[in-house]
Amino acid sequence: MTGKKKPLSARAQRREAERAAVKHVRDRERLASLEPGGSPERPIAITSASEVEVAARGMPCARCSGEVRVDEHLAETVGTSRLRIARVVCPACGARRSIYFRLGAGLPN
Ligand SMILES: [Zn+2]
Repeated sequence: MTGKKKPLSARAQRREAERAAVKHVRDRERLASLEPGGSPERPIAITSASEVEVAARGMPCARCSGEVRVDEHLAETVGTSRLRIARVVCPACGARRSIYFRLGAGLPN
């Protein structure tokens, strides 16, 4: 960073950048919730519960794109759907999220 043209204070610049970063993170997290697996309404179809952790680990952190690890693996039945929920945490930035799966892929919904 050389040659200051605008006398915008460093603090104002930093605040601006922080605001942009926060907005960016929110957008990314919102987008992630719309992706397959991001909500109970959009579970990822799987045929076996053993696929849950592999698939969950394959989805990068919604906040920093880092590698996540699976904290918990829960089973839940919603209506007639047998859902599996992987709670993942990103060791890099600490972001947590739940990824939803539906067992019994191939059956008519
Ligand atoms: Zn992260």
